[in-house]
Amino acid sequence: MKKLQEVLRDWEAVIGLEVHTELTTLETKMFCDCKLSHDDEPNTNVCPVCLGMPGALPVPNKKAIESIVMAGLATNCEIQPRSYFYRKHYFYPDMSKNYQTTQGPVAFCMHGHLDLEVSGQGAKERPDSTVEKDAQGSYVAPIRILRIHMEEDAAKMVHVGGGEGRIGGASESLIDYNRCGTPLIELVTEPDLRTPEEARLFMEKLRQTFLTLGISDCSLEAGSMRCDGNVSIRRRGTTEFGTKTEMKNINSFKSLHDALEYEICRQAEVLEEGGIVYQETRHWEPSKRRTVVMRVKETADDYRMYPDPDLAPFDLSDEFVQSCRERVPELPDAKRDRYVQTHGLKRTDASQIAGDPAVARFFEEAITYAPKAVQTIANVVVNLVPATTAVTAAQVASLSSLLAEDAITFAQAREVLELVDGTNDDPQKVVDERGMRQSTDTNALAATVEEVLARCTDQVRQYKEGNKKVVGFLVGQCMKASRGTGNPKLFNQLLRQRLEE
Ligand code: ADP
Ligand code: MG
Ligand code: ZN
Repeated sequence: MKKLQEVLRDWEAVIGLEVHTELTTLETKMFCDCKLSHDDEPNTNVCPVCLGMPGALPVPNKKAIESIVMAGLATNCEIQPRSYFYRKHYFYPDMSKNYQTTQGPVAFCMHGHLDLEVSGQGAKERPDSTVEKDAQGSYVAPIRILRIHMEEDAAKMVHVGGGEGRIGGASESLIDYNRCGTPLIELVTEPDLRTPEEARLFMEKLRQTFLTLGISDCSLEAGSMRCDGNVSIRRRGTTEFGTKTEMKNINSFKSLHDALEYEICRQAEVLEEGGIVYQETRHWEPSKRRTVVMRVKETADDYRMYPDPDLAPFDLSDEFVQSCRERVPELPDAKRDRYVQTHGLKRTDASQIAGDPAVARFFEEAITYAPKAVQTIANVVVNLVPATTAVTAAQVASLSSLLAEDAITFAQAREVLELVDGTNDDPQKVVDERGMRQSTDTNALAATVEEVLARCTDQVRQYKEGNKKVVGFLVGQCMKASRGTGNPKLFNQLLRQRLEE
């Protein structure tokens, strides 16, 4: 098969995502008071409503409606003053009512958008002609969101044993209704994404947004956030959509990217050989790095959708929407911009910190302890903290101050952070106890520099002949001469000054 980059020169990919997110931070299910927890003994958090007993009546969870409205506001959707719950009928044991309660043509949230900033290697996937790129090759892709609707999750099924001719070769199918009735929001994008990287970025941004709203733990691995990827291709320059295939339940950002990449290349090969792309559901096999057919779509599914007579049309008052608006916290993009503007952070560091609310809280706590070392704190938070398990914001602040004063090197900072991880120790104390503090006394360092320069005449000559890299060697000599107590950054500066004289 051809490589993605090559395929995308002749073909344009058209991608739309359907993203399901469980509202895991709520306490109760969508239409009953059962506890929301998947970890309990199977079938312990159930009642007549979520088991679909005849006559049981649903009562919508107000907090779930607040969550979806906040999700809609954060993704620039129009919140519908009136929307409806529908019944979507199907027969399968994971939903004992024999219908899923979901929404019809009008959902709580309609017609939103998220703007993606695509840069670096990923931006190369999109050929320049279709989009305006800046000098670095970065571009902004506005992605429209068709809708976000409210629905309920089905029960979890496990197929066990090894019987022949049974589902998945299993002899028994077990059902856990604890998950049944979990509030679920489904977001559907317009087919506006054009590369696997854009799809990955969209999911990442959506996850950051929902995490910041606090409406879900958004775990792709654990399945609280699940994504279906729809993709088709068309000849560059044409406008008609091709036939799409759909990949279900992709459980990592990487899989989403790789599955779409594979599928685009596969479709191109089929079409270039004169074949037909069938509208089908395919399954991504990460270990084999390919998609395989799950089922072919022959007719439109008939779910006999109609408004649920047990649930009245849903009217949202302006006051309710306003109260949800007030509860939307500062979103990742705004946070990133604030970090850049008020703290002078690098944009990449700022977006990495702003993208994860827990990291952002940690950073903001740390800078209260050492307001003068903000940029260094950002650097430490982005580059060193992820490898630790239990360092505190106060420890990071203290360490960053040392680093900002050039009292320790970055390598030493890494070492000190490992030492204090999981303890109450102050990095300053550890540095002093271990004699790691480096001399920033320029007079003392300058003397060492003179001594080394006088000794290393060969290297000095090489430098003057244009081999600037020998500075590294000379810094090493200075470090040795000072028995590691000098600051290498300062040695480097002093050496260059002297050599350029
Ligand atoms: P279906 O009825 O098969 O579920 P929908 O029209 O509901 O299809 O669209 C589902 C998703 O597929 C949406 O995200 C939409 O943007 C995307 N989509 C629709 N048509 C195409 C296409 N031709 N190529 C790629 N994605 C598409
Ligand atoms: Mg669909
Ligand atoms: Zn229940």
